[in-house]
Amino acid sequence: MRITDIREKTVSIASPIANAFIDFSKMTCSVVAVVTDQVHDGKPVIGFGFNSNGRYGQGSLMRERFIPRLMEADPDTLVDRDNANLDPFAIWRTMMTNEKPGGHGERSVAVGTIDMAVWDAVAKIAGTPLYRLLADRYRNGVVDDSVWVYAAGGYYHPGKEIEGLKDEFKSYLDRGYTVCKMKIGLVPLADDLKRIEAALDVVGGGQNLCVDANGRFDLETALAYAKALEPYDLYWYEEAGDPLDYALQAELSRNYSGRMATGENLFSMQDARNLIRHGGMNRDQDVVQFDCALSYGLVEYMRTLDMMAENGWSSRRVVPHGGHQMSLNIAAGLHLGGNESYPDVFQPFGGFADTVEVKDSRVGLPDVPGVGFEAKSALYALLKRELVD
Ligand SMILES: [Mg+2]
Repeated sequence: MRITDIREKTVSIASPIANAFIDFSKMTCSVVAVVTDQVHDGKPVIGFGFNSNGRYGQGSLMRERFIPRLMEADPDTLVDRDNANLDPFAIWRTMMTNEKPGGHGERSVAVGTIDMAVWDAVAKIAGTPLYRLLADRYRNGVVDDSVWVYAAGGYYHPGKEIEGLKDEFKSYLDRGYTVCKMKIGLVPLADDLKRIEAALDVVGGGQNLCVDANGRFDLETALAYAKALEPYDLYWYEEAGDPLDYALQAELSRNYSGRMATGENLFSMQDARNLIRHGGMNRDQDVVQFDCALSYGLVEYMRTLDMMAENGWSSRRVVPHGGHQMSLNIAAGLHLGGNESYPDVFQPFGGFADTVEVKDSRVGLPDVPGVGFEAKSALYALLKRELVD
């Protein structure tokens, strides 16, 4: 059992949209294939991965450090004890050889992308969907048959006015979502409030709407928004301030009674732990949104889930960022609270298997080996074209 090749490419994930901090017109994404010497149905088993969205492709880090470390390692050190499968934990340790602690930067994205491909390969070698493999190994076989999802969108499209936002949210409701999320913070508060009220007209109440400031606000602005948002009783108020400003988050938590959500830009267990320790988050109410693809992958994600449990947080309070199939597998297999979903943007990376329908804001998972990329035809076609053919 060994890895015979690791391939990576940087592809476009550009989109004509903007949040309060960046536009996505030049956004890229790394795709990875981990090729093994295992043969199923006459073909080598290949695991695939990609780096979620919102961080640029990480090809040079992979080419210069992480892929050579794996390819130069003794293959016997990268497999489990009975040589029945790859060992994602040993692979992770090998990738992180000679990397100092801290300073996570975007190294975590490169490692997380390869880690996704490794887990896809491991589940395929075992002949089982990843969510079932995770549940069997770590949760006594208990799988959630469906996962709560919400429709993330409501971006600032240049030239798109309030009617455009309302039409977008109407189409999400038509597709089976009950909770929608919109961006705030790019325009003055008074203008955002008009957009929020227009969205509420469509979704029917505050508990069906989340707002996301993408880390744009200073404390004063975050508090001004909190005061204005509180009467709407929104489902959550997301990433008000800089992702690493735990004091801001703590002060905001003291001044806002509704649910807060944050964490998509924390890329390690240690950063997540600082949020839990110092961010003043309410473990009985708030939501954390760590994205495995951006934060060293599932091996590190399990450390983060352990850390949360040690601090009295239920895994149900985790609703990952990214809207991708990897997080959906983790949600169903490791008892998370839900998953983001991008019905219209970041295609073909966002979204789930072709046959999966959203009903009452919940989705099921396909019964195919691995993460399920082969059940999402547009994404599989891209991965195959860029990495296999
Ligand atoms: Mg967000």
